[in-house]
Amino acid sequence: MSAPYALHGNVAVITLDNPPVNGLGHALRTAIVDGLAAAQDDPAVAAIVLIGAGRAFSGGADIREFNSPKAFAEPNLHTVIRAVEASTKPVIAAIHAVAMGGGLELALACHFRVAVAGAQIALPEVKLGLLPGAGGTQRLPRVVGLEAALNMIVSGTTVPSEKLAKTALFDQVIEGDLLAGALAFAKAAVDEKKPLKLVRNLKVVHPNPEAFLQFAANTVAAVARNYPAPSACVEALKAAATLPFEQGLKKERELFLMLMQTPESRALRHAFFAERAASKIPDVPEDTPPRPVKSAAIIGAGTMGGGIAMNFANAGIPVTLLEMKQEALDKGLGVIRKNYENSAKKGRLTPEKMQQRVDLIKGTLNYADIGGADIVIEAVFEDMGVKEQVFKKLDEVMKPGAILASNTSTLDVNKIAAFTKRPQDVIGTHFFSPANVMKLLEIIRGKDTAKDVLATTMKLSKTIKKTGVVSGVCDGFIGNRMLEQYLRQAMFLVEEGALPWEVDKAMEKFGWAMGPFRMSDMAGLDVGWYIRKRRYVEKPDMVYSRWIDKICEMGRFGQKTGAGVYKYEAGKRDPIPDPLVQELIVNHSKEIGVARRKITDDEIVHRCVYALVNEGAKILEEGIAARASDIDIVYLTGYGFPLYRGGPMLYADSQGLVNVIAAMKKFAKNPHGDPGFWTPAALLARLAADGKTFNPS
Ligand code: NAD
Repeated sequence: MSAPYALHGNVAVITLDNPPVNGLGHALRTAIVDGLAAAQDDPAVAAIVLIGAGRAFSGGADIREFNSPKAFAEPNLHTVIRAVEASTKPVIAAIHAVAMGGGLELALACHFRVAVAGAQIALPEVKLGLLPGAGGTQRLPRVVGLEAALNMIVSGTTVPSEKLAKTALFDQVIEGDLLAGALAFAKAAVDEKKPLKLVRNLKVVHPNPEAFLQFAANTVAAVARNYPAPSACVEALKAAATLPFEQGLKKERELFLMLMQTPESRALRHAFFAERAASKIPDVPEDTPPRPVKSAAIIGAGTMGGGIAMNFANAGIPVTLLEMKQEALDKGLGVIRKNYENSAKKGRLTPEKMQQRVDLIKGTLNYADIGGADIVIEAVFEDMGVKEQVFKKLDEVMKPGAILASNTSTLDVNKIAAFTKRPQDVIGTHFFSPANVMKLLEIIRGKDTAKDVLATTMKLSKTIKKTGVVSGVCDGFIGNRMLEQYLRQAMFLVEEGALPWEVDKAMEKFGWAMGPFRMSDMAGLDVGWYIRKRRYVEKPDMVYSRWIDKICEMGRFGQKTGAGVYKYEAGKRDPIPDPLVQELIVNHSKEIGVARRKITDDEIVHRCVYALVNEGAKILEEGIAARASDIDIVYLTGYGFPLYRGGPMLYADSQGLVNVIAAMKKFAKNPHGDPGFWTPAALLARLAADGKTFNPS
């Protein structure tokens, strides 16, 4: 990695070379500064071109150095930018493919910028809860205008270079070879003695900046709600429009440092790195050769099977759905077609694309038609007997080396693997409903699952645009095992005095996409009831609140039956609090001898969230999850935990684990508390005692 310095006639070319995207890491920054100094000192040099090697001009900061002292070590990006601006010889940025974040800020400091069409231009810092901190908010509006800059900076979206070709961002659009074009531009700049332009000396031009910025501030504040960064971006742009350049830079710096300290930015940065970390499996080397996946088969064309098949078709992988009866197959294929037609109607898919995808999905009733598939995913009824039949059959028909996956949500993947003579090829792929929409894919590693099967499934999760997280085998895996404790608390809260809609409201105010009872009504109350009935037999010591069973006994299973914890108007999904349910709950409390009390939102939220955290700690300690951040990703991508809080484990860290334990002790002492429930997991107790956190801070 370097910034090779080469002379082309009287032009010095500094090549940014730090694969994959020329991130501005410490070594590259040093090399740029050294190259600039060499060019200044060399009387033979009349101009300097900065160009990127390989796949980008520069993608900005080197994320490998994030959270390390190298990120801000001298020469930092500000120093590099000062060195560029101080050059007495013209500096030309030659841009292709990607100029983002710090990469674009570096280009903005150059005297001239040339670009090829198709380059991706962006200041995406807002996506990490930050703003561009190296002059981006001050320089971009000076070249593309206040409005365009505001849109780019507040949203972080990427704009193709050709859309900005007519702005002062680019001095020339190069057709053909970029280096040759940049060298010609440099030669002309020297020959014509073009004055050295600095963006800082331009004015932000707008007919009525105050009114526009006020409007933008109001709109952004309303949309951004729990995120402070977008509003801070508007403030920085206001500084660009109203203050002298240096003062504007100072304001940008202050806002950047303020945002670095916000819990929201910490959460977004955590989620960004957590997602990358989740794809690394500690004992599976990154260069493990994956098995090829060019075709797939799904067993069962029900709710999940159909959605899973769509994922493959969307990724261009042909997939065959196998059912027992023609009727079930036709129904499943019909639902898929309808889903695609709806997307096409909404303009999300062209009719051609829709047809291509539909054509990639075939149906069959015959196992002989799927034997050649590279992966088969079973999504039949959740019953060990049925799974046994299916896996024995798959063992017979599938070609050697095919991956045999189960979408089971509660059954033991090791037992399923033992139905075959190739347990090394068996794995769990736990999709979430609707499977064509939800991002999360829990990848269940059985005791015999081969490393290349894991590596292949993790790679496949990316191909089908899912976030894969590896879980060991246990009841409920990571997500549902934690959810059971969360729902138990939510139900206790209702038994003790809160009404279901009060619990939902408190959780939604905390930021959850949906409170626990709205979610249960949507998923179907019968699912949880089925599991609880099993628990009553298998774990008679585990206490559950039984009021919700009474609702199930009335045949109220949620949205699908028109009533559950809430009632619903025919054909509508808006939950309506039901006085009948309220009466049932109040009577239930009376029957079990509980004096109902007023429960605060704070208690509601923390009992539910700390129930998750305590179970999460057990999951970590048992090695079911490899890292706390994997648990956070499961909850952010699969369960609607508020992104700006970074997941349950990061939330616990941010509260301080000693405080989590103190709260749990308090809950244990509640009049109707369950002290057993609130015994801190050993890992949680140990970390709190040592003053540590789940996630590295
Ligand atoms: P479903 O009842 O909607 O579909 C099951 C389908 O499998 C039916 O169409 C049935 O005809 C077919 N089938 C049954 N036995 C078969 C056999 N021997 N051969 C071929 N086809 C057979 O069920 P679902 O909700 O899609 O669940 C499927 C699996 O996915 C279960 O293991 C379930 O636990 C799991 N899962 C479900 C959800 C969910 O939200 N529904 C979420 C995650 C995982």
